[in-house]
Amino acid sequence: MRSGGCQCGNVRYKVSNEPVYSALCHCADCRASSGAPAVAWMAFKQEYLDVESGDLSTYEGKNGSFRQFCPNCGTGLFFRNENTLPGLVDIQSSTLDNPEDNPPALQIQCAERLPWMKELGTLPEVDRYPGAA
Ligand SMILES: [Zn+2]
Ligand SMILES: [Zn+2]
Repeated sequence: MRSGGCQCGNVRYKVSNEPVYSALCHCADCRASSGAPAVAWMAFKQEYLDVESGDLSTYEGKNGSFRQFCPNCGTGLFFRNENTLPGLVDIQSSTLDNPEDNPPALQIQCAERLPWMKELGTLPEVDRYPGAA
């Protein structure tokens, strides 16, 4: 059993069984929605998801896609598209309580990836902000 929620704590969920896939998505739609260069997802059968508390806002996107987020803090949580992912719900896996234990297994939609994302592993790293101790 995995659990997670939004930043403010309004939305809490549990999801049982194992994911169908776990992937980092580079598509332009995820980028526009999240304001981030990529989004990590885990897909489960919809009946395995139990939203335990909180209200969700739903945004209807292109081609039958529905994204759900917390109306209070804006955290993106769930994605459904019966055309492309019938019967599944995609969960933004960084909203899990332990995302470190739920890594993506592949990168998808690389046709739309920002070119510099491919070189991410070669950038210099600092533990905090540059110049901070
Ligand atoms: Zn929230
Ligand atoms: Zn995407």
